[in-house]
Amino acid sequence: PARPDPDGAVRLTDSDAALARLSAVQKHYLADPFIRHFVPRAHLQPPRPPLINVGTYVRSEGIDTLVERWFAFAEQECVQCQIVSLGAGSDTRFWRISTGPRKDLLRAYFEVDFSEITMKKAMAIRKSKELSAVLGKPEDISVANGGTSLHAPKYHLLAGDLRQPPSELLALLEPHLSPVHPTLLLFECVLVYMSPQASSALIQGFVDHFDNAARTQGGHGVLGGIVYEMFGLEDSFGKVMKSNLMARNVSLPGADPYPTQASLPTRFLKHGFTMAKALTLRDIRRSYVDPAEQERISHLEMLDEIEELELVLGHYAITWGTKLPGGATVLKANW
Ligand code: SAM
Repeated sequence: PARPDPDGAVRLTDSDAALARLSAVQKHYLADPFIRHFVPRAHLQPPRPPLINVGTYVRSEGIDTLVERWFAFAEQECVQCQIVSLGAGSDTRFWRISTGPRKDLLRAYFEVDFSEITMKKAMAIRKSKELSAVLGKPEDISVANGGTSLHAPKYHLLAGDLRQPPSELLALLEPHLSPVHPTLLLFECVLVYMSPQASSALIQGFVDHFDNAARTQGGHGVLGGIVYEMFGLEDSFGKVMKSNLMARNVSLPGADPYPTQASLPTRFLKHGFTMAKALTLRDIRRSYVDPAEQERISHLEMLDEIEELELVLGHYAITWGTKLPGGATVLKANW
């Protein structure tokens, strides 16, 4: 019998994320003209249940708001910034930013995932005129490493295992990553698939890289981070969520103990970040989604399981933080 491939099940979670996003777009929760290019036979995909659509909406809007604050911060500092998305899967954020009002503030956007995923993504990009047009002129787009990497003036798609030593990962990024521009790390639903040791080593690797550059090259050395993840997997509902994943052979090296709401900011604080905060999707939906938007999405679909919705959303959180280099006084950390 074929040996089970634990990473195969983890990679499949990307299709789930893409299908969830497509569904939220089809049901008019979100506007995203790009996601359909990353989902095979997109027009035939059945929508996801309302609860999933609402969750996808809150997650996407929450992260978009933080990314927008990051751009506002860069604008205030009069610098361009970079975004590195780790475990990017079929995410469309690069295309949304590059066709939006912040495109000139973006210096470079990086996406890293397993080679199987980046190869598929590179093919989808080359197949779609709409996606490649955003990247630049055809002669400015190049594919490398047997089709698993793709480079354009501002976009770099790279194949790598995030559990490898961070120095190897940074070596992949280094030819294109400026060490002196503010850089935002995005971990959207990926750290849960890695051991806490590997996640920590990864974040610390970036911290060391930018600290070092600030010392030796006089750069900003400013690092931002956003993590979206499940948490509270020890409580009774969390255990159900965990066993649902296990049933699909998704191994969760997770953490021992799993993060709790109180411990979430330590993801960043233990690496010397100057500030870190976390909110659950439940809190974001209740208190941070614009009332007009709340009203609009409440009419999109019937949703009678409000209690279940709150229970599920209460187990997902967005954590964000900023790290200023030692001695920096002029920069405001509170983006
Ligand atoms: N960030 C995307 C989003 O939110 O739409 C995709 C999320 S998907 C749930 C998790 C992604 O992380 C998958 O694309 C998976 O292949 C990737 N991933 C998980 N572990 C990884 C690792 N060790 N190295 C590289 N990619 C990994």
